[in-house]
This record gives sequence, C-alpha cells and structure tokens, in this order.
Amino acid sequence: MTVNLAARTAHRSDFCGELQANDEGREVVLCGWVNARREHSQHLAFVDLRDHTGVVQCVVDNAHDLRNEYVLRVTGVVTKRTVDTVNPNLGTGEIEIKECEVEVLSTAEPLPFQMDGRTDVDENLRLRHRYLDLRSERMQRNLRLRSRVNSAIRGAMEAQGFVEIETPFLIASTPEGARDFVVPSRHSPGQFYALPQSPQLFKQLCMVGGVDRYYQIARCLRDEDLRADRQFEFTQLDAEASFVSQDDVLAFVTEAVAAATEAVTGERPGEIPRMTWHDAMERYGSDKPDIRFGMELVELTEVFAGTGFNAFKAPAVKGLRVPGGAGKTRKQLDELTDKAKQWGAKGLVWMKVQDGGALNSPVAKFLSEQEQTGIAKVLDAEPGDLLLLVADERAKARHVLGLLRLELGRPPVNEGGFSFLWVVDFPLFEALDEHGSPIPAHHPFTMPHEDDMALLDTADPTDLLQVRSQAYDLTLNGWELGSGSVRIHRPDIQSRMFALLGIGEDEARRKFGFLLDAFTYGAPPHAGFAFGIDRLATLLAGEENIREVIAFPKTQTGADPLTGAPTEIDPAHLDELGLRLLPEKQ
Ligand code: ASP
Repeated sequence: MTVNLAARTAHRSDFCGELQANDEGREVVLCGWVNARREHSQHLAFVDLRDHTGVVQCVVDNAHDLRNEYVLRVTGVVTKRTVDTVNPNLGTGEIEIKECEVEVLSTAEPLPFQMDGRTDVDENLRLRHRYLDLRSERMQRNLRLRSRVNSAIRGAMEAQGFVEIETPFLIASTPEGARDFVVPSRHSPGQFYALPQSPQLFKQLCMVGGVDRYYQIARCLRDEDLRADRQFEFTQLDAEASFVSQDDVLAFVTEAVAAATEAVTGERPGEIPRMTWHDAMERYGSDKPDIRFGMELVELTEVFAGTGFNAFKAPAVKGLRVPGGAGKTRKQLDELTDKAKQWGAKGLVWMKVQDGGALNSPVAKFLSEQEQTGIAKVLDAEPGDLLLLVADERAKARHVLGLLRLELGRPPVNEGGFSFLWVVDFPLFEALDEHGSPIPAHHPFTMPHEDDMALLDTADPTDLLQVRSQAYDLTLNGWELGSGSVRIHRPDIQSRMFALLGIGEDEARRKFGFLLDAFTYGAPPHAGFAFGIDRLATLLAGEENIREVIAFPKTQTGADPLTGAPTEIDPAHLDELGLRLLPEKQ
C-alpha cells in the first residue's frame, strides 16, 4: 500500500497520482479536476481525475454532466485493470477506480486554451489565465522544484551559521547599475522611496551591527529591459559574512548551490572550477563562459606580427576552430560574416582546411606561407575544419569570436549537465565614461585587489582599467548566476573610491552618508554574494526562460496580463501623493 498521510484531509484519503496495484481493494476518496472524459458505453464513462500528483482513471456511471476542469470528490474502490487495458504511459495505469460515487465540488466554464500540454499556447494567453497554466504538469513540477531549491538553500545557509534577516522594501536608493523603481510618499509629498535593487547596503550595515553571517532569500527590483533570463522583480540568495576572505565566501555559496542541485538532481556537483576574468575573456570572449564545450578562442596576434595583409594589421588577431565546419556553404558563411559585423567587427575571415592541410579562403593569397602554416599550427587545424579569424581591438575581437563560438557550438542551455564556474579577479572598472571617470564593474563598495591598490593613484585614468577587484561571479552553463565581492570597510578607501567614480563628497554624503557614518564606528572586514534563484531554478528545471519557474511573471514588456498591471491610479490618489501627470509624449 502507498498511503500518503500528507494526502489525508477532511475531504480526501489519497492523492490521485499515487495509487498503485497494491492498493487494490481499498476504498479511497479522491479530490481533483476532470482532466478528460471518454464515453465507454451509453451509461459508463472514463473520467480522468487529476491533482498535482498525477491522473487516475475513474469509471463513472452517468457522467454526462461532468466537464473538463470540474472539481470533483470521487469515492470508489481501487481495482486492478485487466491486462489488455493496462496503460503503461500513466503512473497509475495498472489500476482504475470503480464503484464511483461522484460529488461535484465546483463547475468550470469552457477553457480559454487546451490544457493538454501538447498544444502550443500563446504565452500572453497563458499568463492572462496563469492560474490555469499553473495546473499543468510542467508548472506544478517547476514550482515544486523551486520550493525544493529554496529549502535546500535555506538548509545549507543555516547549517553554516547564517541568520535570516529581512531588510526593508521602502528605502533610499541602492546602486546596482539599474534604474530604481520608485514609490511616492504620501506623508512627504514630492519625496520618493526606492524599491531595493538589492539589500546590499543593509547587509553591510548588518555586518557593522555584529550579525556575523546574514542571509536572505531576497526579492530585488530593477527597472531594466526584460530578457529570457531577466524580470523586473527577481529573487536572490543574498548573503554577507564578517571576518572572511573571498575563498570563504566561495565555499559558503558552493555549499548552497550544491545543496540546491542535489535536491533537484539527486547528485551533488563536484568542486566548482575557477577562472580569472582575464582568462575567461581571452579564452571564451565572455565573462560568463559556457564551459560545457571546447572551441576556445586562440591567440594569433604573434603569427601576424609582421604581416603585409592590411586587414590583419590590428592590435589583436584571434581565431576560432570549428571542428568539421568546412562543409558550411557560402551563404552560411556570408550570414556569419553579417552577424560578426552586427556584433561590431569590421569583418570576418574564414578559412576551410582542405585535405592535405591547405587553406581555402578568399584571403589566402594575401598571406605568406609562414602565416598559413602558423595559423594551422596554433589553431591545431585538421582537414575538414573551418577557421574563423577576427582582427580588431582586443576587446572587440574576443567579444565577436566569443559570440560566434556560442552561435556555432553551444548546446541548448538545458542539455549536457550543469557546469558551474567561478570567474574571479574581475576588473574594478568596466570603462571610462565621457568625462573620463571610471564606471564601476560591480558596485562602488567593492574592494580593489590588494596588489593593485597603488594603481588607484595613477595620473592616467586609462591605467584604472587595469585595476583588478576582489569581485567574483558564479556562472552556470553560460548564464551569470550571481556576483559578490570583498567590501571596502575602511571609510578612507570608500571616500577615495567615490572620488574616483566622480561622486563628490556632498553627493556621497547625501546618498550613502549613513553607510560612511556606520563605517566610522568599527566596521569588520566583510564580504558577500548574491545569486539569482530564478535563474538557478530555471536551469535545474531544464527550462530556457525564467518565466517558467516564476508563478506570476511579467511579459517581455513588463506587463501582467492577469491583473492588468501596471494600471492608472485615481486622480484623488494622485492628489494625495502630490503628483500631477504630464500629457503623454507624442
Ligand atoms: N548586491 C550584489 C548584487 O545584487 C551582490 C553582492 O555584491 O553581494 O548583484
């Protein structure tokens, strides 16, 4: 018998999907939705009853009035099916429920879309009736998987001594590089709260407050363009700890993601490899390299050091070997060239490696013998391969080839297992803005790398781009799961950082005065991390879009077709808030 006590309520005795042959003869009371009804004879029908555990077939007298998605309570006896009626495709296919008494608990209108899981349903329609979509096997599985992920993460953090603390939603701004969502204040008309882009400042204050280890499964809100892996609202495991090094943080987070992965797959991932940001960019052309497959970028600058071919007289030449890619047609190669140009390259050079090793390429005639053998050697070329070369500024060449690598070699994101990777030693600054001020790569509370501190005093702002930070990212199958850093805990270094970023003393005091003040009262060295639970759950669920693991997501344009949000508000409410709307821009 498979009696699941969790199923027992005042209404029912068992779950539909759990009944098996060894339950034969038991009288059961089941509750669920009509999944399908098939007439058997004039009076008898098969009614498939569904709850979140699965479907069971009930043999029902006079079922004419029962329609799909009616909610029923069925009392009946578990009966073995005859050998020729066993359904191997159904978890409960060896049995059916007979002698059924049926009570209709709720009726249902005809549905706006087919819920058979086989019909492709327009996503807007699914989201508009998300409560129906949630009944699907896929969504039930994903939501339950996500719940297991959350609970495994909580368990792992608690076991490591982290304390769950809720930080506020109505706050002053926390800079994470996105736009804030703002909430007008009724008590102070003309003033606004920001919704948290992350709990960053509060978790650092918790460290000053002696909490030692903080975590939160935190909702964060960022007003930025939506994509397959991005929503306005998302959930992170957010953590911070005192008196720790980067290695300590990586170990804490590894525990959490390993526990989550194990909770879903039953297997604990092995040690997570590390790669420096610099290596990631040189070898994969990306700060979130997908290491499930090879096809690494190869350095060819040396090979062309004295070239007479103008197109290769560039600061960097990088190449990519596409094994067996020589079969690509001219049209396909033209398409790749167009893509490379869209991604910013001046052009793309292709070469097909022929039997015997000679290179077939429109540019072959411009290259010396030595250059041709050099390319083949450095790229380890074999007959039948396609070689792609980009000559450009270093950053551009690796970016474009990194994208071509993904285009030509990347398996679907949900195949080939789970390849976690730590990317460490991120640069402190991403670029210089139009005033020559550096733009932080992470947030402005990130500690510079100890060996690069002296570079902060450079007179030449371009030197700043060489400064490494104590910041690190976690990636999975080419998705960025999250990032963190060792923080600046000394007010003098923090002020220096603000100055470098062009944040004047007044502005720094206005925006972060409370943090700077807190740091003057004994701030422990601290470090932390946050990773996206939506993204982790998406990949663990084998999905490609985070909307599939979010109960009530927004569409690509940030709308909620279910509730109609965002909506207008009453003029009276606007008045109360001291707000007046401008006429719509034409
Ligand atoms: N607050 C950062 C973020 O949300 C993570 C961190 O540095 O802890 O990306």
